[in-house]
Amino acid sequence: MKIDVDLFSDTVTRPTGEMRRFMCDAEVGDEQKLEDPTVNVLCEMVAELLGKEAAVFLPSGTMCNEIALRVHARPGEEVIAHHTAHPIHFETGGPAALAGVNVRAVDGPRGQFDAAAVEAAVRPPSRYAPRSRLVWVEQTSNLGGGSVWPLERIEAVTAVARRHGLATHMDGARLMNAVVASGVAARDYAATFDSAWIDFTKGLGAPVGAALAGSRAFIDEAWRCKQQMGGAMRQAGIIAAGGIWALRHHVKRLAEDHANARRLAEGLARLPGVSLDPGTIDTNIVFFELTGSLTAPAACERMLARGVRMGALGARTIRAVTHLDVDADAIERTLAVARDVFTG
Ligand SMILES: *Cc1c(COP(=O)(O)O)cnc(C)c1O
Repeated sequence: MKIDVDLFSDTVTRPTGEMRRFMCDAEVGDEQKLEDPTVNVLCEMVAELLGKEAAVFLPSGTMCNEIALRVHARPGEEVIAHHTAHPIHFETGGPAALAGVNVRAVDGPRGQFDAAAVEAAVRPPSRYAPRSRLVWVEQTSNLGGGSVWPLERIEAVTAVARRHGLATHMDGARLMNAVVASGVAARDYAATFDSAWIDFTKGLGAPVGAALAGSRAFIDEAWRCKQQMGGAMRQAGIIAAGGIWALRHHVKRLAEDHANARRLAEGLARLPGVSLDPGTIDTNIVFFELTGSLTAPAACERMLARGVRMGALGARTIRAVTHLDVDADAIERTLAVARDVFTG
């Protein structure tokens, strides 16, 4: 089946011709001996971007999260995270299997919780209870519909964590979307977190990799986990170069993805059987609900037959994600197909 417009995820992007050529020409060395100059440049760029002492290049965002859990928490300790958080749903039980941690899932609208929720979730010292250890924020919130955590909310929840002696972590898979949407600098969002990372393979459009940042001591420990988990690499500059290219050339253009997502949401909201408030679209992720007899999997199948791919999440919910391989024309094509599927 030919897919003309792939809105399944922002992970489906292919490296551009220019990115590929830049990757081809990358200087390389032995990454695990810290001798790959391209990886070293990328790590310096990310440490600088996030205002941290150091950063480590990893094969995936999942490994950033799992290593952060292992460095911050001991088995039996507890992480406070929103119930939609990525490690709870998409990391194959990694928090339990790799870090041995308990997750205390908290609630709140659009993938976000507030300071009062953290205050209520922190456990008083007790031999019976797991020890609260870490507060976890996902910026932007993926299952929260790409919502941007306001800086004041981040400062408030991390202040509660600090007051109770807990560590703090930001899953910044789509942090740069939040930065472009809000105008708040990445280092300001990251300032009150002990660790934070960005993914190069989401909206930034690189083929492989993510980078985790924190204090020098945190990154030294993260390196031990990376080595142990088989994440230490050799001539990784080839792939790290994609991240450098993405940070130089693919950040500002995220604004186009956000405009396209907004345009898509406005068009979808006008269709019968679709429930969607375009005002809730902060970045590049569009969630909508179906209210008629058509189910989400059936609607996605019909759209796919017409060359447009979206993702069904359960019976009623569909997710569409914009990215650098989707332009304004593709959004118009998508809306024409959706109009046929939802009215016909
Ligand atoms: C994609 C994603 C991850 C995992 O990143 P990978 O590079 O796919 O392993 C983690 N957290 C969030 C919020 C994500 O969207």
